[in-house]
Amino acid sequence: MKKLLPILMFALLIACSVKQKAANGEKGKDGTSSVPKITQQDIKVSMEYLASDELEGRATGSEGIEKAAVFIENYFKANNIKPYFETYRDDFEFKNSRSSTPDEVIKGFNIIGVIEGNDPKLKNEFIILGGHYDHIGFGKEVNGDKIANGANDDASGTIAAMEFGKYFSKSKTNKRSILITLYSAEEMGLKGSGHLAERLKKEDINAYTMINFEMIGVPRTSDKSMAYMSGYNRSNFAETLNEYAGGEVVGFFPKAKEFNLFMRSDNFPFFKELNIPAHAISTFDFSNFDYYHHVDDEADKMDYKHMANFINKMIPALEGMMNASTKEVALKDE
Ligand SMILES: [Zn+2]
Repeated sequence: MKKLLPILMFALLIACSVKQKAANGEKGKDGTSSVPKITQQDIKVSMEYLASDELEGRATGSEGIEKAAVFIENYFKANNIKPYFETYRDDFEFKNSRSSTPDEVIKGFNIIGVIEGNDPKLKNEFIILGGHYDHIGFGKEVNGDKIANGANDDASGTIAAMEFGKYFSKSKTNKRSILITLYSAEEMGLKGSGHLAERLKKEDINAYTMINFEMIGVPRTSDKSMAYMSGYNRSNFAETLNEYAGGEVVGFFPKAKEFNLFMRSDNFPFFKELNIPAHAISTFDFSNFDYYHHVDDEADKMDYKHMANFINKMIPALEGMMNASTKEVALKDE
């Protein structure tokens, strides 16, 4: 037994150091981080709450969106994602010119968390990942159902950003710092993201890139790229992400260009205000989901296997971007 002790201790130490290495963001023997993969079950739990009837379609200014915000804040706390500002909430006010009461002042709040980078220099550069956690509230009544639950639009993108936050908060595999940004009032004209982009500009943030995850709840048909990037030709973002991922995850989608989706999603204010590569990534291609802004955009319509697969496939792409020694992603001259 005595003879065995040093051997056991040594084995224990090795085991600890392997764990420590992983905790420091270093790779395990097989090169993969020892942090667990993102699971369908975790995604399902968040989706079933955010898209539940209880939250009544998460309209900005409603009780339902307050509940959604508290849920996200608790998720951040539970996963050690710190507030970027004094609190998680980035408050803003605006008049909703689209509503029947255009002079009414509406209060909204984005939810912003930060995962600091592990490199003394690169941690001063920020990568912004986002989605909008608001939706339209009530929709056109169908079979007595009036609640537009907004599972795909955009609880799916919100959950993707939350899961990336959890992953990097645990793995610490990011040299650059990450902002997890969840917007309100997207449905009222990109109000939340517009406010945050202006604020970060005023505060002179050193932002590198921005990705907005929009409607990633259902898969595209297998003959197409898993996802597409809006404004594909405005930068080398997509091809660089695919290089990091070791295969095509985000592709070009002609309809995205035709409908000018680049300017219709929460990425656009960051492009406009900060002049950085800021794009939306989506798997909704107008042929694979019939319930856009519809009361049947429900949690049970989401494909959790696809969502987990997509989010896990994006991890090495994001890690490549977070850890490259230089800013390889850049806007193209118009
Ligand atoms: Zn949306």
